[in-house]
Amino acid sequence: MTVTQESARTYEVRTYGCQMNVHDSERLSGLLEDAGYVAATDGETADVVVFNTCAVRENADNRLYGNLGHLRPAKVKNPDMQIAVGGCLAQKDQGEIVRKAPWVDVVFGTHNIGSLPVLLERARIAGEAQVELKESLEVFPSTLPTKRESAYAAWVSVSVGCNNTCTFCIVPALRGKEKDRRPGDVLNEVRTLVDQGVLEVTLLGQNVNTYGVEFGDRLAFGKLLRACGTVEGLERVRFTSPHPAAFTDDVIAAMAETPNVMHQLHMPLQSGSDRVLKAMRRSYRAERYLGIISRVRDAMPDAAISTDIIVGFPGETEEDFQATLDVVRESRFANAFTFQYSIRPGTPAATMPDQLPKEVVQERYERLVALQEEISWAENKKQVGRTLEVLVAEGEGRKDAATLRLSGRAGDNRLVHFAVGDETPRPGDMVTVEVTYAAPHHLVADGALRSLRRTRAGDAWAARQGFSTPKGISLGMPTIGRPAPLPPAVCSPS
Ligand code: SF4
Repeated sequence: MTVTQESARTYEVRTYGCQMNVHDSERLSGLLEDAGYVAATDGETADVVVFNTCAVRENADNRLYGNLGHLRPAKVKNPDMQIAVGGCLAQKDQGEIVRKAPWVDVVFGTHNIGSLPVLLERARIAGEAQVELKESLEVFPSTLPTKRESAYAAWVSVSVGCNNTCTFCIVPALRGKEKDRRPGDVLNEVRTLVDQGVLEVTLLGQNVNTYGVEFGDRLAFGKLLRACGTVEGLERVRFTSPHPAAFTDDVIAAMAETPNVMHQLHMPLQSGSDRVLKAMRRSYRAERYLGIISRVRDAMPDAAISTDIIVGFPGETEEDFQATLDVVRESRFANAFTFQYSIRPGTPAATMPDQLPKEVVQERYERLVALQEEISWAENKKQVGRTLEVLVAEGEGRKDAATLRLSGRAGDNRLVHFAVGDETPRPGDMVTVEVTYAAPHHLVADGALRSLRRTRAGDAWAARQGFSTPKGISLGMPTIGRPAPLPPAVCSPS
């Protein structure tokens, strides 16, 4: 169903949750634009507001109904406005959403995001809410049109769903069993993106290193990494998230031997206590986890490793928590997403005995964060004096005294703020800088740029902004702000 240009309706997609949802929202935007909708400008209330929800966070339901309530007056004022709710919470609450918020026009699930434009049109014609929630995936979502947020970096799904049953996680219930894309499809998408100027891809899956289980090739993920290494013009390959139980040495070898695969690994730990890992139904133990880290470091001594950790899982004792601190000390993570356990309805852990008092969880959480901050800072200090290649990020620069600083990511994904001289790089360009200072969560390079390499990704960014020359672009560069933070990883409790 296509909206004609004269009557073009505006849309806004509001995204909650992990990287998988961020990428799904790129598809929702692509679908709507394909159907003739145009993005609403900042501050304008869109004709169509889409909530792409996350069911994982505590009180996600309350937040959604609060947000829907806020939109109700706008909808009363403009009856042509439409509200759609999709994502994990829609899949979980099913028809309940239109019962609790009858001013919602469309509810769609995680398996049928491709139906959104048709459902909006049907709701308009029928004058009543349309609810479509499929139980399993019919079309792999990567075949849908996508409006990429970035001109230089892109997510590429290799799989959706998960065959594990971690007791704190709602994902298997809402995203279904793992479905793998064929390697040829993945590589075609990667090549197309590179042709459009993209320099960096992140291969995305709930459990990337079980990739291939569906088509019977246990080594498929390592092979896919090596195949990405043959794509001309692709400078950086990352992936998220691997599961420690399924992590095989061929993936480490592929990372170490494929020049464009970055020496960066995000591998969820969740707990360092074997007893808690068992209760979480995570089928690896601390020794295995540490063994993978040690082999990654042997193969790539410069690798930056990050993780997810849950504190205060039901029944966690002080001894269990100490075991987590021990693994954190030994692992020397570059950074960690740390979460306080809270009950997520619908998960097995929600009804486990021995739920811990909030203050116990909070106190342990503070100790863990303090330890990790200390390690992150010490690890970052080791970078001072090193020369790094940085992919300049979208977002805004920062002006301290007379120095304009921009930001970007090093190969190991560390955030770097660097000083800019006469020539201003564009998002998507590559700069080489020397690190002069380290903070716990970022590096600073205040000297002159060692080099600036203008890229096709930078050209593509400039074309999107309506600039034609690098000189013109520097005039458009904002001066205050920060690049957008990374969303949580896919296989994480938040
Ligand atoms: S935490 Fe990750 S591995 Fe475990 S069930 Fe959820 S998505 Fe799967």
